[in-house]
Amino acid sequence: MARIAVGFHDDRAISIKDFTMATTNNNSCSCKCGSTQAAPVYPQQLTGMDIMVRALKMVGIDTMYGLVGIPVTELAYIAQQQGIRFVGFRHEQQAGMAAATHGYLTGKPGVLLTVSSLGFLNGLTATTNATVNCYPMIQISGSSVREPIDLDQGNYEALDQYNVAKGLVKAAYRVNKPEDIPTAVVRAYRAAISGRPGGVYLDVTETCLGAVVNSADVEKYFYTPVDLCPAMPPAAEAVARAADMLAAARKPAIIIGKGAAFARVEDQLKKLVDTTGMPYLPMSMGKGVLPDTGDLSALSCRSTIMGQADVVILAGARLNWLLSRGHGKWSPDTKFIQFDIEPTEIDCNRPIAAPVIGDLASSLDAFNAAMATRKMSMDPTWVPSLQAETKEKNTKFAARLSENASAQPMNHWTALGAIKPVMAANPDVILINEGANTLDDTRDTLDMALPRHRVDCATWAIMGMGIGSSIGAAVSTGKSVVAIEGDSAFGFSGMDFSTICRFNLPVTVVIFNNGGIYNGVGVNPSGSADPAPTTLDIHARYDKMGEAFGATTYYVTTPDDLSKSLTEAIASRKPCLIDVQLGADSGKESGHIGFLNPAALEKFTV
Ligand code: ADP
Ligand code: MG
Repeated sequence: MARIAVGFHDDRAISIKDFTMATTNNNSCSCKCGSTQAAPVYPQQLTGMDIMVRALKMVGIDTMYGLVGIPVTELAYIAQQQGIRFVGFRHEQQAGMAAATHGYLTGKPGVLLTVSSLGFLNGLTATTNATVNCYPMIQISGSSVREPIDLDQGNYEALDQYNVAKGLVKAAYRVNKPEDIPTAVVRAYRAAISGRPGGVYLDVTETCLGAVVNSADVEKYFYTPVDLCPAMPPAAEAVARAADMLAAARKPAIIIGKGAAFARVEDQLKKLVDTTGMPYLPMSMGKGVLPDTGDLSALSCRSTIMGQADVVILAGARLNWLLSRGHGKWSPDTKFIQFDIEPTEIDCNRPIAAPVIGDLASSLDAFNAAMATRKMSMDPTWVPSLQAETKEKNTKFAARLSENASAQPMNHWTALGAIKPVMAANPDVILINEGANTLDDTRDTLDMALPRHRVDCATWAIMGMGIGSSIGAAVSTGKSVVAIEGDSAFGFSGMDFSTICRFNLPVTVVIFNNGGIYNGVGVNPSGSADPAPTTLDIHARYDKMGEAFGATTYYVTTPDDLSKSLTEAIASRKPCLIDVQLGADSGKESGHIGFLNPAALEKFTV
């Protein structure tokens, strides 16, 4: 009987029936691989894979994203059999994006399962991205037998995965013996979730996965880990220093980052803002932690805050490139209070006057208590001036949307003007967003009302996170998801739209097709018929792709059709794809960050 087991170099397909039989029969290796590993006699014996699944369940893992093959196929079947949901993808990178989003939205590490070599490498991009973005996830990868790797003897899918991963992830572990699996899983879990969250790599050798042990011995490998994600309260002096500084501020503001969204501190932040009356400015994924349209929201006053605020609190936000690394428009006189769990973040770009190191929930509880005994000295004109600026900017923004409302072909603003009321009517839909202009203009147009309802390309600014992230969001929360994707961004992960369909997820993918990277008006300067480097397919019918996998699809050229189709798609809670036809000239180079290009591209466009 065909059976895929580790140590059995047989990659023939396995049916569930085969699997069930395989786990109840005593098979020996039928291929000529020379494996010394025998198949287990269930239930008296178990394999490393059985122990792995049990260890994952012990720490509360209920979902696994991945793509199987040698040597992890049977592991996925065992996981499924044991009640862990297995979401199989077409590309490991997307499975990894799903696991990372799962981790971000649930506060527990998402798990990615990959095969050796290429599968491992494909997934590693997502695990590295998770590390940069502080999303908790664990990539578990099978790896081939170690000895021939170490001697470079040309074994099947040989790669020293552990050492490749090590420099790119928060932590990496390799487990070689079945008795170490529970410890390895607990350590990977703790590393992913505690302190600053991140991506963890757990390498499991083929030998370890396939090792057969006596069931009676397995019990002693396990223990109950205590406090998998301990609170890390801040020092009282740090809290007092920060509270004194805020109380003395004339023009304070608080910047809310995705660390605050992840830490689920919306109640503590609401209390802080309500009691102090200070304005807040959300980072992209911090949108909705407090409502974007709240009275104290200074969403439209970023430059004013950078130029004029005297004390700025960073709550789970970093002074990285997204905040000009603390320079540029920032006033040199601004003093920072930084709440973060990671001590090495402090002073990384600008001196921080009052660091508060601890988990945000504990830190904000302590800070709110400290502020209750202090009086604010805020300039009474500060908030009204920001509110007046907000009003003025909102009027200008609304005018931009209405000026473009009937543009033909549609541009980004036409499409977003149509989408805005539909998303406002569905505030509990999770928004996934990537692209260049599609990212920037969507972020600027769509207000978020609820925390953890926006996931985007984030700190690393990577394209190709959208479809995987949509799947992770839908699977981990059960909520409806709308992904607003540039046509180029969608191209990285389009095939995994089929995963949305196979799992019948309530995800609507909206593709803004302007026929190119940035836009579709690039000109090949050589005069040949080849497309320009930025040119894609302005006439592509992405809706037909959706049709191939059984989704409900729409091709829209007018704002009316767009709002109707999106309303219908969200209400259906089924896989849907909306191909939005834009003009090729809609969108500018690199969206809002064209200044990061070494030179302007204008001369290469029509
Ligand atoms: P944004 O892009 O929104 O500014 P970043 O990802 O740059 O957000 O910053 C998030 C910050 O939040 C990181 O410095 C990270 O260490 C911090 N962080 C993550 N989780 C917690 C937590 N539970 N408590 C405190 N800080 C946290
Ligand atoms: Mg495009």
